[in-house]
Amino acid sequence: MNQPDHSERGHAEFSPSSLKYVAGCAGYKGRDGSSAAAEMGTRIHEALEIEDPSNLQSEEEVSIYQEIMNDQAEYLMNFDSLELTETHSEIMLDVALNGTSTYGTCDFLNVYEGTKGVLIDYKTGISKIDTPDKNWQSKAYTLGCFQKFPKLKTIEFVFFIPQRNEILSHTFKRSDVKQLTEELSEVIIKGEKVRPKWDTGTPDLSELTPTVDCRFCRYEDVCPALGGLVVEVAKKINPRLPDVDIDSTEDPEVVEQLWAIAKIVTNWAEGFKKRAVALAEDGVELPTLRLKKLGVRKKVTDPSTFISIADKYGVDTETILSNVSLPVSKIAKAVGDTAEKGGKQKLSAEFLSECQDAGIIEESPSRHTLS
Ligand code: SF4
Repeated sequence: MNQPDHSERGHAEFSPSSLKYVAGCAGYKGRDGSSAAAEMGTRIHEALEIEDPSNLQSEEEVSIYQEIMNDQAEYLMNFDSLELTETHSEIMLDVALNGTSTYGTCDFLNVYEGTKGVLIDYKTGISKIDTPDKNWQSKAYTLGCFQKFPKLKTIEFVFFIPQRNEILSHTFKRSDVKQLTEELSEVIIKGEKVRPKWDTGTPDLSELTPTVDCRFCRYEDVCPALGGLVVEVAKKINPRLPDVDIDSTEDPEVVEQLWAIAKIVTNWAEGFKKRAVALAEDGVELPTLRLKKLGVRKKVTDPSTFISIADKYGVDTETILSNVSLPVSKIAKAVGDTAEKGGKQKLSAEFLSECQDAGIIEESPSRHTLS
């Protein structure tokens, strides 16, 4: 079988997988681009489609693939006594709604006796997944599946989430179709009304609802709702702060008030982030966030020994110097310190001036702050 390429697929503007975020805030739009986790997920899904792990790139990917294969085989044994009438991998589902629509691809479907569907989606990440009865993606796929297969009476929707050791399932009935249609239509129609406002300006504050998922939204840096949230937080820290119109950001008075708020909130946020990391280091499990190892900074404490060891390995001093950034002010001070009392500053300035004339000092543009 040919190697599938899921990255080539189109995505609906309001795709089933993004509806959780749109339901949280109608102004939400995901960021472009991919991530290592998303690319790993795509590879595992492609491997599962053709039941061939040979294109996977790490032991972790193969282990997730294998766990899903095993979980699915075991789960489907529950239906061995029923006649399997249809089976589909990577099933494309159009979802017709009230005045709108969406579409997406669900990972697997078995139909038994023509009337009972088992619809499966694989989750390869570590994030917490809402149970299918409360999950916008499973609701959309289920509705699309009821529409595509009119004889289905029930659909058992299953998420396999090996990284969390979870299998989540829920059985939908055809009588749920009306409610699913209404719920999904409401979310998408609201999104269709609010999201386009970003193209010509900013949605109204009342249309935006910040949630923990703002971190995935492409408007996170410019969203006025987050500004409003920041003001609320700041006022909790300092109740004497005045009410601030965050839309008038060019008014000097307001800018100054926002500057003060930004400092308060930044300090609070830094402190809180440290506390959250400390809790996670102590073993507290957070719903979706995981501890991530950052690179360790290394510093040479004895440059002479460092240079002689590098020399032993065939790297000469000139090569080392071409890879380091010298602290100009510190060395200019050291030069000044060689002069007699009263002449230090002059010598330091002469040294800097000669370096400037030699064209070996580059100055960054001036940087400013407010105080
Ligand atoms: S950043 Fe703004 S638009 Fe985006 S999800 Fe948060 S509140 Fe909504």
